[in-house]
Amino acid sequence: MQASSWRPIDITLDFGGIDTTETNTNIIKAIMANLIVPRLKLLFQVQGNTAIRAFKSNPCIRYDPLIVNYNKTALQTDLIIFVKTVPRMESGASGTGVVCELDPLTNRPNIGVIRINMENFKVSTSIGLDLNFDMLMHECFHIMGFTAAMILKFPGGIIKTFDNVKVVTKDGNFSNVYSLKTPNLLKWAADYFTCPMISGIPLEDQKGGNSHWEQNIMGNEIMTPRLVPRMLVSNATLNFFIDSGWYMVDTNKAEKTYWGEGEGCGIINNDCSTSYREFYPVKGIKDCSGDFISKTYSGVTSNSNECITQIIYSASNCPSAAPQAKSSFNEKFGPGSRCFLTNVNKMIENIAGCYGANCTDGVITVTISNGRQINCTSAGQILYISHLLTIICPDPVVFCAAWNQRCPNDCSGNGKCHVDGTCFCNLFTTGDDCSIAKTCTLAPNICNMQSDAGGSMTEFVTSGSSTLISAFMILSISFLFSTQSF
Ligand SMILES: [Zn+2]
Repeated sequence: MQASSWRPIDITLDFGGIDTTETNTNIIKAIMANLIVPRLKLLFQVQGNTAIRAFKSNPCIRYDPLIVNYNKTALQTDLIIFVKTVPRMESGASGTGVVCELDPLTNRPNIGVIRINMENFKVSTSIGLDLNFDMLMHECFHIMGFTAAMILKFPGGIIKTFDNVKVVTKDGNFSNVYSLKTPNLLKWAADYFTCPMISGIPLEDQKGGNSHWEQNIMGNEIMTPRLVPRMLVSNATLNFFIDSGWYMVDTNKAEKTYWGEGEGCGIINNDCSTSYREFYPVKGIKDCSGDFISKTYSGVTSNSNECITQIIYSASNCPSAAPQAKSSFNEKFGPGSRCFLTNVNKMIENIAGCYGANCTDGVITVTISNGRQINCTSAGQILYISHLLTIICPDPVVFCAAWNQRCPNDCSGNGKCHVDGTCFCNLFTTGDDCSIAKTCTLAPNICNMQSDAGGSMTEFVTSGSSTLISAFMILSISFLFSTQSF
């Protein structure tokens, strides 16, 4: 292969496996064609063969007969993604992504299939659209090589790629997992976790083992095994792909993560110490995410090894332009809004709420819904808003460090924020800060979701366990839980 012959990845989508009698399948096509492909092209370059061979047989035979349109001649493309709907998946997963074939010259995956569980695919709001954008992005990363099987094909083989490590959970069970130790990934992790001597990053040991990041270490990173609102494409996943040797990746287009950042080596050992921001002594504690974007609660998940961990509520991202769920008093949502702990009516438990924010000279200015502004100058300071509401100040140094990394106007609450300060806008907006509404040319069921932004509060359906939410019910809030593995 010629050196330095990298080119933006060319992707061909095949929707022949979509059962169009299912509802809203045009949403899948819109997300894949208008969000996923442009985002992958922004991130990835490839080299080597510029065509995929004519198929002798169905390359994805493990996953039902697909309608194969390319069996007669080679196709000029780098990656074919077959998209298939299934009425129901026994596992309860939202989707799967499987590698079907490799490029013979480079071993890079060049054909894959995404299967979507239509039982879980319920999209009627822009929040649902965002969630499924993340879900489909995750499945595409599996197709592009983020799987246990493909790790074995990394350059240098097993010796240079991972160690087998034993993970012992709180309930006494243990399993062997890969601990990745490829060079760019280790370099990133040493800096990110502040763990200079880091020897590897263990993958998930529970459901979805060895094909995902360990949830307790990576939180809501895109390649952790549970679908939660707001999953982030971090430089962990991008460095994984760099180390595969199959891609040149633009790490400036990663999203900023916060889980475990700067917390030292211990968090990588999966010990769930409550000295870390992400772990709690009891369930049901309301809090804010480490970047102050999302409202969270503490709970146990099927991937948290019995540890009580931080979980993002649905409809809880303060800067979002789409309507978010209220939980405290006088909340203010939209660009510039951040999560603060509050106390309502002198209750013992604190509650998270969204309020306008700004940082100047190490002072946080908090703005409540009626426009009133009040300053935080020190950690733990109590702002008295009314006889019902107090706001508890975060550490201004920590808060303002996160605040200073925001994108222009928080991408107007309509997009994803890259580490280089650029935005990736949703289906309905464009411009540097996603502030310009596009004329929607998609089908009415998709364009209707454009009016979510700034619209009235949507009543969200609660599914799955709702016990943790009971305290919020007092304030007439219900949340959509979207915590399937995928
Ligand atoms: Zn997955």
